[in-house]
Amino acid sequence: MHHRLAVVVQTPAHSGLSGPLTYQSPEALPPGTLVRVPLGKRETLGVVWPVAEQDLDTEGVTERPVAGVLAGLPPLGPAWMRLVSFAARYYQRSLGEVALASLPPQLRELGPEQLARRLKRPQAAAPDPATPTPAGLALTAEQAEVCAQLEQHPGPFLLFGATGSGKTEVYLHAVQALLERDPSAQALIMVPEINLTPQLEERFQARFAPRWGVQAVVSMHSGMTPAQRLKSWLAAHSGQARMVLGTRMSIFASMPGLQLIIVDEEHDPSYKQQEGARYSARDLAVYRGQQEGAKVLLGSATPSLESWHHSRPSAEGGRYQRLLMPTRVGAAADAGLPRVRRVDMNRQSKGTVFSPQLVSAMQERVARGEQVMVFLNRRGYAPVLHCNDCGWKSECPHCSAFRVFHRIDRTLRCHHCGFTQAVPRACPDCGNLDIAPLGRGTERLEEQLAELMSETLRPDGQPARIARIDADSTRAKGALESQLAQVHGGEVDVLVGTQMIAKGHDFRRVTLVAAINPDGALFSSDFRAPERLFALLMQAAGRAGRDAAFVSAQKSEGEMWVQTFYPTHPLFEALKTHDYPAFAQAQLEEREQAGMPPFSFQALVRAEARTQAVAQGFLNSASAAGAELEGASQVFRFSAVPMTIQRVANIERAQMLIESPSRAALQRFLAQWQAVLHATRAAPEHKGLIRWAVDVDPLLI
Ligand code: ADP
Ligand code: ZN
Ligand code: ZN
Repeated sequence: MHHRLAVVVQTPAHSGLSGPLTYQSPEALPPGTLVRVPLGKRETLGVVWPVAEQDLDTEGVTERPVAGVLAGLPPLGPAWMRLVSFAARYYQRSLGEVALASLPPQLRELGPEQLARRLKRPQAAAPDPATPTPAGLALTAEQAEVCAQLEQHPGPFLLFGATGSGKTEVYLHAVQALLERDPSAQALIMVPEINLTPQLEERFQARFAPRWGVQAVVSMHSGMTPAQRLKSWLAAHSGQARMVLGTRMSIFASMPGLQLIIVDEEHDPSYKQQEGARYSARDLAVYRGQQEGAKVLLGSATPSLESWHHSRPSAEGGRYQRLLMPTRVGAAADAGLPRVRRVDMNRQSKGTVFSPQLVSAMQERVARGEQVMVFLNRRGYAPVLHCNDCGWKSECPHCSAFRVFHRIDRTLRCHHCGFTQAVPRACPDCGNLDIAPLGRGTERLEEQLAELMSETLRPDGQPARIARIDADSTRAKGALESQLAQVHGGEVDVLVGTQMIAKGHDFRRVTLVAAINPDGALFSSDFRAPERLFALLMQAAGRAGRDAAFVSAQKSEGEMWVQTFYPTHPLFEALKTHDYPAFAQAQLEEREQAGMPPFSFQALVRAEARTQAVAQGFLNSASAAGAELEGASQVFRFSAVPMTIQRVANIERAQMLIESPSRAALQRFLAQWQAVLHATRAAPEHKGLIRWAVDVDPLLI
């Protein structure tokens, strides 16, 4: 007698939302078992899925036998399978793609015998329960209160803690309390970037290795070798690893004892996957915590507006508990928050990139042996046109959005409603001929800076040294590390860079941080641009004057300079007083009025084709066909528009925004609409379409 099994395998992304395939097996295998199965001419990894016998998909397939069972591994748990099912459904991808992408790549390549050999490797020395965990720092009153709240309430929690308020110590404390209470409990701690994992791992090892063994802490991120990733995954899956530290991918780690999930810097856009299944690891953390009864702690000094909104008082509908740590502790407290200075660029002569005030401040610092960090607006903001004389901007007459300048056909297009016009010859308000993209041109900035600093000497009589750190300068392996080492070693006096230099690095001698051209983000077609700018500037400000001893020995002061044409903009007012809640409240009011997230829910469909006409035609046809679907009236589908970067390698790209006041309505619509999109694609008039994909809760619009 043989058994029939549903098995999930990796299916091509565009084969539709195919479910599990049916295979035969001589033995009954429990759901979650990893198997090797034939697929076409290949053999591939699959996961036995919990599907009732009568629901098995048997249409038109000859059932082939399972080729092998990875017998040494305990099956994946039901909670893990629920997480994967939910993510696939919510983010509109196939179950197989999400399930298999969530497993370490090497698992796909190993046969049962090879895996058995891996599993037999000698185990590390057992933890020593007689050794006490090294004592952490004595908690401050704020930290103690937060830890008490974490113990008493189910969460989810949003820890709103100033930079330097000691959030990491709270994480360590919460993990330790859990491990000591429950001998099989596991904790997942996520950080937004690979570069941040080594220092975190060091702190966790220092605290937990003496008592729980070095193997109790593992890392999980894409910078590890396939063998390391498999090792970490197996340790988490077997329960041997008590703590998993990782980037967004670690949200899918199999952790049978999971009881605590910490998402540090929860506002960071890196938690959203930007290709394939475009999941948000932060949002999945909240789902997973709720499913598995694990506590979820989101932490940030500048929370995402979504999380801030979710943590409003429960009487107003808030679902997260907000915890506050406003005060900096330890060394950070003495340094204080840097003074924020705004330079009004309207008072500078036309075309000024570096104001004279800023230049002399930078020269003074360098001459005293201090370091300066010059911070560029990151590229890639959709360009909005503005008039230098009267301040006119390319607003959309129909939306609370700015129209984007498309260089290719010299048009202004609203990415929200699609309204399009040719670029006017002159400013519609004052007739000025000089209208230009806002916040443009950073390419030559480094050269200009070199010129301005060319006469400045360091205390040792050497000329000032300028270095640039950005995606281009750090492409080579190890380049970032060596550049950072030069900054730490005092070889660099002025560091120029994009947001890469704002995150986490502890440069002891930086006393001045300057944002040169942040205005582009104030008036962007992307409604999240101000939120990202504020977080970035707060973080950048946190780089100035961190070392209180150095600053006072220098008789110096940490300062953040902002050059802007809009010095009284509420964003900069809030920055000056380091007041995130004021900023968040103003932003949320604007969003509520405009019906933007978190007061509405969005999805973006992107299409690629040889021509814009085909890409947009596909989206518009699918949208029209979607009007028939149940509940379609609750879901607004805007016109297709070209993407901001509309052509890449001769492929034309278009997008369409879909919006609903109800998350459930949007989800219901998208689920039904998949079939419509596939059918539309198959129609002859859309032959030139190359690919399309849905992005649910998109971060970049
Ligand atoms: P955050 O992650 O909130 O920015 P950190 O956890 O990095 O802050 O803590 C900032 C600094 O304060 C660190 O140097 C840390 O060692 C120190 N610190 C944290 N908690 C305490 C405490 N309870 N007592 C003394 N120093 C502390
Ligand atoms: Zn004008
Ligand atoms: Zn519009």
